[in-house]
Amino acid sequence: MIPLPNLPKLSIRLKAILSALLAVSLGILVAGWLALRSLEQLELARLEETLIVRTELAAYSLTPTLSPGRPLPLGQRERESLHRATAEIARHALARVTVIAPDGTVLADSTIPATADASQLENHRRRPEVIQALSDGRGRHVRKSATTGVNTAYFALRIDGPSGVAVAVVRLGLPLTTLESRIGDLQHALALACSVALGAAILLSLMIFNGLTKPLSDIAVVARRIAGGALGERVAGPSRDEVGMLAESINQMADQLESKIQQVSEDRAQLLAMLSSMVEGVMVLDVQGRLLRMNPAAERMFGLSSGSCSGQHIDRVIRHQEFAELVRRVLASKEQGGGEITMRPSGTTLRIEATVTDCQRDDEACAVFVLHDITALRRLEKVRKDFVANVSHELRTPLTSIKGYVEALLDGALSNPAQAEPFLQIISRQADRLNLIIEDLLQLSQIESGQVHFKHEPVDLKDLIERSLAMIKPIADKKRHRVTLALPPDLPPISGDEERLGQVLTNLLDNAVKYTPEGGRIEISGRRIGESGSGQVELCVADSGVGIPPADRPRVFERFYRVDKARSRELGGTGLGLSIVKHIVEGHRGAIWVEGNDPFGSRFLIRLPIAMLSDAASQPLPQA
Ligand code: ADP
Repeated sequence: MIPLPNLPKLSIRLKAILSALLAVSLGILVAGWLALRSLEQLELARLEETLIVRTELAAYSLTPTLSPGRPLPLGQRERESLHRATAEIARHALARVTVIAPDGTVLADSTIPATADASQLENHRRRPEVIQALSDGRGRHVRKSATTGVNTAYFALRIDGPSGVAVAVVRLGLPLTTLESRIGDLQHALALACSVALGAAILLSLMIFNGLTKPLSDIAVVARRIAGGALGERVAGPSRDEVGMLAESINQMADQLESKIQQVSEDRAQLLAMLSSMVEGVMVLDVQGRLLRMNPAAERMFGLSSGSCSGQHIDRVIRHQEFAELVRRVLASKEQGGGEITMRPSGTTLRIEATVTDCQRDDEACAVFVLHDITALRRLEKVRKDFVANVSHELRTPLTSIKGYVEALLDGALSNPAQAEPFLQIISRQADRLNLIIEDLLQLSQIESGQVHFKHEPVDLKDLIERSLAMIKPIADKKRHRVTLALPPDLPPISGDEERLGQVLTNLLDNAVKYTPEGGRIEISGRRIGESGSGQVELCVADSGVGIPPADRPRVFERFYRVDKARSRELGGTGLGLSIVKHIVEGHRGAIWVEGNDPFGSRFLIRLPIAMLSDAASQPLPQA
């Protein structure tokens, strides 16, 4: 599954709302600040206007009191009169009134009691409004009063004498407390208005952005689900705007993805089915030699458990030097290659063909190895070679003998009847042997190639065995063997070809006589196995002869296999008899094997199917 990218910490909706709110808040704050500033300015201008008018009135009222001719410092009476006038004006003007001499000495101040000496107040020469008034005629300043400690707006007017010389400065100070409290109220009102506007902006932006971004969020959720593997997910009811177009595109993309993935899955399933059902092993490696895929046949060939080695390096999976070298060669040269390896200890022979692909990436399929199990083929080849060698050898022996005696005859033995006759008899015997071998070979090849059709008829075993015994009786008697037959009276007939089965019995009896030293014992017995209709009859030909070592027992049914070659030849054997017997028995859907006899000798056992009622009609048996 594709890992989902980390989702942004802030969603688009939140980002949009926050930025809108930031913009709105900034706007409201700037507007509020500007409004406040202009209101402050306005109020201050009004206050100043009032102050100027009142100061002018105060100056006008005080001019007679400060008329020239009254030398400074003022006397007690003048000071009291000035203080009264100052206090009176201050009461009417609702302001602090101060009269200052040109040298900065305070002549009167409405804030000090009548009994106090105003000249004791700090010299006002350095007050900005006083400096300005003395130089320009009028001066203004706003500051915190050193006397009252309250923010105050000051306005000062110079009073000139008739000669144009300044006699005093009249200054009015209006505390800004009222203005400040009014501005405070304004600030509160503005803060309230801003809060309401901000609240409304939050609500509105929530509503607007919710409407705008919800479809986007829905699309994001669906896209995440599709990426997570839920290919059936679709964005519902896309609108007709850009977001709707995006939703439509996502839906189309999901449709295509779904159909592509379905197609890929089907292709993959078909490919896997093909790979799994293949008899040949298939292995796919990347350029580094890592195993990308291996079909069950290849796993079986290397004795690996299913799917356990995917992703591992091939050297760690299959420890076979020749195979590892082949893989290295193919991956290094990037060229087709092949070879044959033999697995140990199983002895399985594998033919390997490797093809390389044009791979670009490290983890891409680079080489495909196809493995054919050619063990059976190699075995067949060996059997064929052995057979040819055996046949040649078997034929060469009598032929060499014939050629030798013919040459001896030609060299002069022919003119000597005493020599010629035994030579000719040997030649005749060897020719018979050649004939025998060729007949047996022909018969074997006919049975093996399916040219011989066995009849399928009920055969009475007692009858058949007695006829076979009669045939070998002369040689058995000659060797003074005691031959016994023990068959239960109710032994059912078997199903088969009487002539061929007779051949089987004669062959076994002939061997028993041949391979049992004089005065031996040969027993033929039979018994029934299993139920009537589906059962079998087991026949046993036992002798007290030389026996067959256990290791040779399974092999005596092979062509030309003889336990003791010299003895077999001496006894006139071809080494093909038991092979023909086995083919005939198996052609009857029967089985044959050999066991050791107690205390010595061999026991050849045959099992053949019991005849059924329908076998009465003679029918050819299908070949095994
Ligand atoms: P052959 O013509 O040599 O007898 P067979 O195919 O009949 O060939 O038998 C194969 C070999 O099996 C014989 O060469 C012999 O070594 C062994 N054999 C067969 N029957 C007997 C037996 N009854 N006792 C001992 N060895 C036997």
